[in-house]
Amino acid sequence: MHAENRRIVALAGGVGGAKLADGLAHHCRTNLTIIGNVADDLELWGLRICPDLDTVMYTLVGLANPKTGWGVQDDSFAMLDMLATYGENIWFKLGDKDTATHILRTYWLRQGMRLTEVTQRLSRALGIEATLLPVTDDDVRTIVQTDEGELDFQTYFVARKCEPVLESVHFRGIERATLTPEVKAAIEEASLVVICPSNPFVSIDPILAVENLRARLWAQAVPIVAVSPIIGGEAVKGPAAKMFRELGQTPSALAVAHHYAGLISHFVLDERDADQRDAIEALGVHVVVTDTLMQTAEDRRRLAQEILEHLEYV
Ligand code: GDP
Repeated sequence: MHAENRRIVALAGGVGGAKLADGLAHHCRTNLTIIGNVADDLELWGLRICPDLDTVMYTLVGLANPKTGWGVQDDSFAMLDMLATYGENIWFKLGDKDTATHILRTYWLRQGMRLTEVTQRLSRALGIEATLLPVTDDDVRTIVQTDEGELDFQTYFVARKCEPVLESVHFRGIERATLTPEVKAAIEEASLVVICPSNPFVSIDPILAVENLRARLWAQAVPIVAVSPIIGGEAVKGPAAKMFRELGQTPSALAVAHHYAGLISHFVLDERDADQRDAIEALGVHVVVTDTLMQTAEDRRRLAQEILEHLEYV
């Protein structure tokens, strides 16, 4: 079976997830549905900001800032400067072009559209062929318990630069949040699920926790492949390795595989970590060893291609 004939579902957080989603989108085009995280969303000056959905959207359309991975390339910050002139605390960087997205999203939400519809309109207008879906239209927010007390995710991540020591993570509103009909349909039609290399604790877990999506995916009995966001014991970017350590685990691909054990059928291990292959296979998971570092557009496509090719023959 070829990639064109399969319905592929990818779970993605921000920068790491978006890169593989982009590679998959290149091969699967309209057959790809990306389910995104909304638990790191925030409201600033009355605007609804969805950092992970926007990172995926900008990455897929080639608009993402290549230096940061988030935000819009060559954006200006005149609006933020003016807010600072008014004495506002501008801890969260909002570029002028990026803010157009937040203005429109907020406007459409206030008109009564669901976040799913808003995300579709934004991504279609940018020319994205894949379907990008928030996992839920409900409000779910990541709250981290740290040695400095409870912090909302963006305060911890952006304002405090992940410095406080993490003790636990919970998702406010998760009990009441429901999967959208679009997400349920995508899961039912999926022939392959890819868990992109995103932060397991704050990007993928809040997706899997909505209406116990983890159990629903498992019940689908289709291949579920996770790509390790940890290479050589470190995160490529961001706090994933620090989080593993602070939660009492040695950061490694094996620790990631343990995190998803019982859900995944396949695990993509970076070639630098090939010595962990046997330990991961002992968890009952097929292991694919390859170069998982995506520095160029070509790397994203090659990794996506390898995953798709491998899964066709198992
Ligand atoms: P964030 O919300 O921007 O932090 O993005 P994600 O949760 O999607 O991704 C963060 C994770 O992606 C980090 O743990 C990184 O180590 C991982 N990551 C980023 N780039 C790459 C890459 O090129 N290859 C792999 N394997 N992981 C990556």
